[in-house]
Amino acid sequence: MAAATAGAAIPAVVTRFAPSPTGYLHLGHVRSALAGWRAARQAGGRFLLRLEDIDHTRCRPEFADAIIVDLAWLGLDWDGPIRRQSEHFADYRAALARLEAAGLLYPCFCTRRDIQDEIARAGGAPQGELGVPYPGTCRHLGAAERRARREAARDYALRLDVAAALGRTGPLVWCEDGRAIAAEPAALGDVVLARKEFPTSYHLAVTVDDALQGVTLVTRGADLYAATHIHRLLQALLGLPTPDYCHHPLVTDAAGRRLAKRDGAATIRAMRAAGMTPDDVIAAALAGAAMP
Ligand code: GLU
Repeated sequence: MAAATAGAAIPAVVTRFAPSPTGYLHLGHVRSALAGWRAARQAGGRFLLRLEDIDHTRCRPEFADAIIVDLAWLGLDWDGPIRRQSEHFADYRAALARLEAAGLLYPCFCTRRDIQDEIARAGGAPQGELGVPYPGTCRHLGAAERRARREAARDYALRLDVAAALGRTGPLVWCEDGRAIAAEPAALGDVVLARKEFPTSYHLAVTVDDALQGVTLVTRGADLYAATHIHRLLQALLGLPTPDYCHHPLVTDAAGRRLAKRDGAATIRAMRAAGMTPDDVIAAALAGAAMP
């Protein structure tokens, strides 16, 4: 195998910035983009831009356009074409089919209410970083009932049977800033990977894309650290390479709260309109606190 021979080329560093065009960029995004851009540029590698626009109810073309304008204004140039996830559903469908053929997915017919009631009945559950883990209700349905309900249901989720999946892969680790981290995806419960009429979720699309795009280092905010446990498991199940990870601290506002589009965090375009320079914005993102 070429990779095992002495003197084989070390793969170049490939990083990416993968925003969802559901709003305008804020300083938290700049911090993520900058981390990836710097790592690639310092190593003579590649920095990719991917628009995670699978959710057509929340994503808007004007936000995608604004992301491109903001990054260009900041001088964070990317290599190659932009990958738009909405143009690649076939890739996610293929990965989903492999997991389904391996018997690792099950249909879940629970409503949000059903899940809350089940958790309450079981005496509550600790809230994880990605919410309360699914209690596993539909994992226990028999094959015939599954089939019948699948045909009748207008919608259902396809969940990953995490315990069964881990039984196939055994223990997993990923490399975070040079340290080995043990993946513990069971803490997140059986995550949703798709719906009846929709062949992917964030977890599946991001895992497939990072591999397809040859990403070697994922730089993103600490809010996605919990998700990495699941991404590592999906990589193992799909036979995909594992990039290194670097989850950076979140940028907070003056009151110490993390920035969020929905809370109207100050946007880069507003900062530009207010006369800040790209250097000012980058300094603010690195300082870790939003301008008051
Ligand atoms: N699309 C995700 C977001 O905007 C980021 C995904 C990632 O970096 O893995 O929060």
